[in-house]
Amino acid sequence: MRIDVLTLFPEMCESVLSESIIGKARQAGLIRIYCHNIRDYTKDKHKRVDDAPYGGGMGMVMSAQPIYDCYKDVCGDKKLHLIYLSPQGKVFNQEKALELSKMERFVLLCGHYEGVDQRVLDEIVDEEISIGDYVLTGGELPALVVIDAVCRLVPGVLADSSCYEEESHYKGLLEYPQYTRPAEWMGKCVPEILLSGHHANIQDWRRKKSLEVTFKKRPDLLEKANLTPEDKIFLKKLKNDCE
Ligand code: SAM
Repeated sequence: MRIDVLTLFPEMCESVLSESIIGKARQAGLIRIYCHNIRDYTKDKHKRVDDAPYGGGMGMVMSAQPIYDCYKDVCGDKKLHLIYLSPQGKVFNQEKALELSKMERFVLLCGHYEGVDQRVLDEIVDEEISIGDYVLTGGELPALVVIDAVCRLVPGVLADSSCYEEESHYKGLLEYPQYTRPAEWMGKCVPEILLSGHHANIQDWRRKKSLEVTFKKRPDLLEKANLTPEDKIFLKKLKNDCE
């Protein structure tokens, strides 16, 4: 997989993307990520990449020319899928992360200041992604969020697909509680079943806990989750116990 990031702050992105799991995956050649400085493409003699908004108002708007030239340079003779990080986009989720993890290559455009000249967005953007209904100063943090969520789903980046398949949101539920050594901490014991070594019983306990946690924290998720008849019976009992 290859991701190109178009940004005014490539060092900000690089500093995060060279650390931890994503940094290691890059070193191992599992993912390729290139951060391009939009400023390198400006034709303005003072290296400006923004200007005041037509019609008046506060702040600056990123100019079309450097963004377009940067994107064209990254594309070469191909048309690459371009995602603009924007608070106006469709809100990012695990399903979208999985979809993007199956793409061979895509480009992320980070806006800044008041935003980007609409004409270049109309020309090059294939989709807009938001990371939530709030406004940040720039698209760099959203791009890093998207990259992190997508790259950990690329085969080989995590030790095994089971690392994320049982996690929150992957199958529409939240994850069961996790515990590690010691078996007793401040008088609190790890649930005995997890020490039993009985795989089937542990799986059953985890499924039920996952349903319980989802029911308590995000009951809205249960409406769309893929539930077995046993899950439904268990949830009905949980609801009855709460009433
Ligand atoms: N004036 C724009 C508006 O009201 O829609 C907001 C511009 S924001 C201050 C600057 C840049 O930050 C945007 O161009 C976008 O790239 C990024 N950004 C801000 N909030 C975001 C969010 N929730 N999700 C994704 N990108 C965001």
